[in-house]
Amino acid sequence: MDPKQHIETRCVQAGWQPKNGDPRVLPIFQSTTYKYDSADYLGKLFDLEVPGHFYTRLSNPTLECVENKIAALEGGVGALVTSSGQAASLFAILNLCQAGDHVVSTAAIYGGTFNLFAITMKKMGIAFTFVDQNADAAQLAAAFRPNTKALFAETVTNPSLAVADLEKLARIAHGQGVPFIVDNTFPTPILCRPIEWGADIVTHSTTKYMDGHAQTTGGAIVDSGNFDWTHGKFPEFCTPDPSYHGVVYTERFGRAAYIVKARVQLMRDIGAQQNPFAAYILNLGLETLHLRMPRHCSNALAVATHLEQHPRVAWINYPGLPGNPAHALAQKYLPDGTCGVVSFGIQGGRAAATRFMDGLKLTAIVTHVADARTCVLHPASTTHRQLTDEQLQAAGISSDLVRLSVGIEHVADIIADLDQSLAAL
Ligand SMILES: *Cc1c(COP(=O)(O)O)cnc(C)c1O
Repeated sequence: MDPKQHIETRCVQAGWQPKNGDPRVLPIFQSTTYKYDSADYLGKLFDLEVPGHFYTRLSNPTLECVENKIAALEGGVGALVTSSGQAASLFAILNLCQAGDHVVSTAAIYGGTFNLFAITMKKMGIAFTFVDQNADAAQLAAAFRPNTKALFAETVTNPSLAVADLEKLARIAHGQGVPFIVDNTFPTPILCRPIEWGADIVTHSTTKYMDGHAQTTGGAIVDSGNFDWTHGKFPEFCTPDPSYHGVVYTERFGRAAYIVKARVQLMRDIGAQQNPFAAYILNLGLETLHLRMPRHCSNALAVATHLEQHPRVAWINYPGLPGNPAHALAQKYLPDGTCGVVSFGIQGGRAAATRFMDGLKLTAIVTHVADARTCVLHPASTTHRQLTDEQLQAAGISSDLVRLSVGIEHVADIIADLDQSLAAL
């Protein structure tokens, strides 16, 4: 990969590199298995002594190309795609923690991630402390314990649209000797590359903008290659792994130790792999990501500016608006735009929100966000309904919050649809 290549070019060209006579387009290698000429070679593959594919649960040529493209977009040394964003979040943490360990996470995160951390992983013996990401450094540092193994945050939170101060959080994590994991789903690497601000691991729900067309669920983990695993807190990375004849990840794989370990231990044992057809669809989405994100952002800013002045709108939250509490952070970390998601409340609270949604025509009510078609959701009664009122508040979600995912249609048609439904309230 040419290090000077622009991200637009990487979206289109990174990953699949056809040789003479190969198909120009990334093929779908719909095969679970791979043929080898000798039993000895296959044995070496199983011992991770030679690179290559031997079973699609661990790796597959179609998946590998998409992984290389995502790593190239985020500026990492390697990536692992997963069956969903949930699997990516799970693996990102499990690769660092075992029962008895602890993680610090910001509180304003996606509801599914919150549930995974606070309920399911707690049952696995991994404890989480949720912190206000805007607290000062001393308060944040106080949440860490001797057994803390990571700090987790979202670049732009879903759906409360807070912006993480990535440099501050990276400094705190590194001061505590642990990696900083960032879920970069909403901005995508087109708008923000957290590794450039000190993140060690980046995760994605590729289900959202990366796919961009609401066609296939998927996730990704990207390894920056920058974290030093040998300083004592992470012996699994730098001592022999008995499940691979004593391989030492930091010695054999150097800067890619984290992402190789995630694949060969977690993907091997748990098997939340993406399938080749899904990876093919994801790759198509990635080819136009650099064209879609600016349109999502300019449409969302126009919609937010319009709604801000609308008499029926009680409040509006879009970090791109001057006066928004996250505006300064957004200008620093996301100067080209935050994403296409806008949240707002309507005069009349929860009941008015529901009536407004029912009156929309172009905009669909769906359990999704971040695709080409404008869509809308009421988080308090759907994606976040398992949260208590206190947890909702900590996640920055009020009961009247409407989450509008602005698509890439003509913005005048989107605004006209919103206006006709607001007028009928
Ligand atoms: C949707 C989402 C997830 C979960 O991803 P799935 O692909 O739905 O499993 C994780 N993080 C964020 C920020 C999300 O928006």
